[in-house]
Amino acid sequence: MVVLVSAAAITWAATSAPRDDAEASSAPRYVPAETVTSLPVPDITQSPAAEDPCALPEFTAALAAGDDPAAIAAVGGGEAFRAAVAAGSLSCVGLSDPGHVWVVVNKHRPLDPIDVWPPDLVVPDRVSNLVAAGLRPAAAASLTAMADAVRAAGAGDIGIASAFRSYGSQQATYGRHAAERGVAGADAVSARPGYSEHQSGLGVDVVPCGNGCGTLDDVAGSPQGAWLVEHAWEFGWIVRYEEGRTDVTGYLPEPWHLRYIGPELARAYHDGGWHTLEEFFGLDAAPDYRD
Ligand SMILES: [Zn+2]
Repeated sequence: MVVLVSAAAITWAATSAPRDDAEASSAPRYVPAETVTSLPVPDITQSPAAEDPCALPEFTAALAAGDDPAAIAAVGGGEAFRAAVAAGSLSCVGLSDPGHVWVVVNKHRPLDPIDVWPPDLVVPDRVSNLVAAGLRPAAAASLTAMADAVRAAGAGDIGIASAFRSYGSQQATYGRHAAERGVAGADAVSARPGYSEHQSGLGVDVVPCGNGCGTLDDVAGSPQGAWLVEHAWEFGWIVRYEEGRTDVTGYLPEPWHLRYIGPELARAYHDGGWHTLEEFFGLDAAPDYRD
């Protein structure tokens, strides 16, 4: 069983890294004959292919344990995981489950269950928290580390203007907007309940702080905002709603809204030059609600 798993892992690495193959084929080919006959060379092409990573025991075990970094590592890392999802070959991975860092919430994809309330929210340490709201543990710890790094870089402090928001509070907020502006007006400024990343415990709105804290609109022109654009991915966060991507995300640019996807996927997102989570995972654009 161990041999099979190793062979499968090799197959994954080989199919997800064509550049390595090209380098290998152009390498010097001279090898002493006795070495060729004496070394046990694994024959990758003859090994059972890991068409479905969901058959890998270490992957399914990590999924069941809620250990997202281990699950991503089991399929070969962030880029391999992304590519497998985009290719539709991760049959056991749903992108609607808010229990995982790869959940995608947009105007086509409500949370499942729609009124989910993460049971493990914690308030991040050492970050000004204007609303005392929590995040899921990995996101909270990472936000603390990131706030320390922003400070160490001389870019100032960041504070939290909003983190977890419940279905009920989103219902109240959205309902207020709808009463004032109608559905179209409310949809332009507020997510419908069950459709907000904030409800997953993986989304946060940050503000620059110094002598007191600024507003969301201050992020774009601040040293903190500039630092986040460059470095947030190193801590597992992405700027979720970028300029020029409203037709995909359904939201106007929000330089203050960060989404935690974990360092493994965030590295793949950054290195691949992606700008929306929808395109990253090969999903349809979600500019509007379907009804
Ligand atoms: Zn937000």
